[in-house]
Amino acid sequence: MHSILFTLILLLCSALLSCEEGSFLEEKPLKVHFLDVGQGLSVLFEYEGRFALWDTGPDSIGFVDTLKHYGVDSLDWVVLSHWHRDHVGGFLEFPSAIKNHELIVKKVFFTNDTAYGFVSDSVFSILDEFGLNNDTIYRGDSLFFASGWLFQILWPPKGVNLGGNASSGVLFIRDSLSKMLLMSDLETPQEDALLSLSPSLKTDLLQVGHHGSLNSNSMRFLSQILPSEAIISVGEGNSYHHPASGTLSKLYLIVGDSSYVHRTDLEGSLIWLWNKNIGFWIQ
Ligand SMILES: [Zn+2]
Ligand SMILES: [Zn+2]
Repeated sequence: MHSILFTLILLLCSALLSCEEGSFLEEKPLKVHFLDVGQGLSVLFEYEGRFALWDTGPDSIGFVDTLKHYGVDSLDWVVLSHWHRDHVGGFLEFPSAIKNHELIVKKVFFTNDTAYGFVSDSVFSILDEFGLNNDTIYRGDSLFFASGWLFQILWPPKGVNLGGNASSGVLFIRDSLSKMLLMSDLETPQEDALLSLSPSLKTDLLQVGHHGSLNSNSMRFLSQILPSEAIISVGEGNSYHHPASGTLSKLYLIVGDSSYVHRTDLEGSLIWLWNKNIGFWIQ
């Protein structure tokens, strides 16, 4: 009798397990690609055959070809974090791809970066030429991309005039369990201001601010947000000597092991697979 009962319990358990395993496998992960764009930043989001972009890397690297490589023919949105060319240059390659019907751009967002110049003028003329839907984003705004994940803008706040790195958009992505924080090129005075607005901010993965510059990533900031993993988007042998050795030392101390500090100059493009409410890991 006991053995029959035991067998029944075993059968029930294995049925439950296979059912859970099935639903786990059916649920598509959110893919977060930190693209190797040399000295610059571009993060491609992919979910159920749809794509969105945070920054487009520098110009003259064949950015549209990189997008084609990942099967991108349409972007739900593109955010340009600030007007520096290492974050926006790739966007200047979009016109020929849009004209040739190789790329659809549904919406473009940018921050209120007051440091206008050639790059911002070029972007605005592309928006005009193709009639692209566009808007300015501020702290408090959310972007929709994948059901179950929040994409929240934490910086810059409305009503302040900031230019260049100080105006960098900051994106906080989370589900019920895990968090990613993209700092773009935000520097230490604004890290402090961000913490005063979001005093309990924490993250699991950190896109390290300003390519690992010493002007960003203060110990005060890093020890508050306590990332367990970090990614530095940086060009091999760049003339700025990014990432700074001081920043690396701080990051090693905070994450506890240098193998949790990733770099696009050493590892190329990196993809995190994020299973909703389960966690994320490098593909
Ligand atoms: Zn930059
Ligand atoms: Zn910058």
